[in-house]
Amino acid sequence: MSEPTVGFVSLGCPKALVDSERILTQLRAEGYSISTGYDQADLVVVNTCGFIDEAVQESLDAIGEALAENGRVIVTGCLGSKPGPGGSDLIRAVHPKVLAVTGPHATAEVMAAIHHHLPRPHDPFTDLVPEQGVRLTPPHYAYLKISEGCNHRCSFCIIPSMRGDLVSRPIGEVMREAEALVKSGVKEILVISQDTSAYGVDLRHRTDFVDGRPVRTHMTELVKELGRLGVWVRLHYVYPYPHVDEVLPLMADGLILPYLDIPFQHGHPETLKRMKRPASAEKVLERIAAWRRICPDLTIRSTFIAGFPGETEAEFQGLLDFLTEARLDRVGCFAYSPVEGASANALGNPLPDEIRQERRERVMAHQSDISAERLQRWVGKTVVAIVEDVDEEQGCLIGRTAADAPEIDGVIRIHRALDSQQLVSVEIGSFVAVEVTDSDDHDLDGFFRHSTQEAEHA
Ligand code: SF4
Repeated sequence: MSEPTVGFVSLGCPKALVDSERILTQLRAEGYSISTGYDQADLVVVNTCGFIDEAVQESLDAIGEALAENGRVIVTGCLGSKPGPGGSDLIRAVHPKVLAVTGPHATAEVMAAIHHHLPRPHDPFTDLVPEQGVRLTPPHYAYLKISEGCNHRCSFCIIPSMRGDLVSRPIGEVMREAEALVKSGVKEILVISQDTSAYGVDLRHRTDFVDGRPVRTHMTELVKELGRLGVWVRLHYVYPYPHVDEVLPLMADGLILPYLDIPFQHGHPETLKRMKRPASAEKVLERIAAWRRICPDLTIRSTFIAGFPGETEAEFQGLLDFLTEARLDRVGCFAYSPVEGASANALGNPLPDEIRQERRERVMAHQSDISAERLQRWVGKTVVAIVEDVDEEQGCLIGRTAADAPEIDGVIRIHRALDSQQLVSVEIGSFVAVEVTDSDDHDLDGFFRHSTQEAEHA
């Protein structure tokens, strides 16, 4: 008899991706087959996103497609906990034929629904499951989710109402997962959460055990432990709380990548107050300057929202001035888009859509000069890059340096590698030394120097 087969559609942010990986891992552990097409699957799981209205529509469309193509659909993810009109279940209101609906971070509930509608095979093929689980990222990098939920209540965000307050994973469990990833060949770990700086606050930084040693569940301790694994470690979703200062010397010593992804969202104190942002009162510009003194190679990535309700031209100018002063390396900017259920909707003074879009474009144009200027500092230096791809048209390799997170930042085009004998031994996911020869607004160009075994940064 053939194995019961589950089709899987994964939408949303890296946090949702990790939820998908957990479900897929559990499915394989229990002997289910995974299918990438609808027709070979006995049922389909759709992991949804409910963050902004476009994502809601994309998720509802994906459920509709799975129902049309397969007919037996279980829905999980953020959209599952989103109420519809009159407090009804939004998904069931649109797609009444779905078999089951759960919220995010609900592996056990999803598995229970799958067991109910597609009984598990008699003999689980546990030996087929790799120790690090099933992942959706390329073999050389992996996201490591350290906590779920958030204790803040930013006025534009509904994540706390969907995912609840912060729940941290004990450090022993996180490190066991990280070690298994490294053992499986992962060269870069990307730490994710809703608020990485708050890691362990809910557990009162309780001591747990890592390889039999007592270690506190705290961001600084986590950085030290991850830094011992000998791979690239990149921190995402960090807020500039004072204790973040402690990790800068560790970055300067090469323990983890000199990279911080900090979602500042705005640069004007009044807008930040209306956004109810954490750490909005911290002296951010002074802190950035101090960090750069400790770790001159530091790359800071951030995201911003332009056109928040009530944002005056002066406040918007404050955002541009902040960018001028902060000289961030990587910046993404969204035009404000109201999210159903967010308290910002009650603020009044919404800006017309054209102004929100126009301000977003002004931010990106302003930042592209800063980003271009920041990238020039690499020209003439030799940096280490991880190889991501081969661009046959341009005759070069595509890589990422310590300053580039996958998918969201720039790349380095590595020339003079494809026509040399040496390239034959260069594999996707390996480290190479590259002499940087040129830069533009977002990317670098350079010449291949040699392969390196080391996960060093430069
Ligand atoms: S910090 Fe703010 S934006 Fe981020 S998840 Fe928490 S409430 Fe949402």
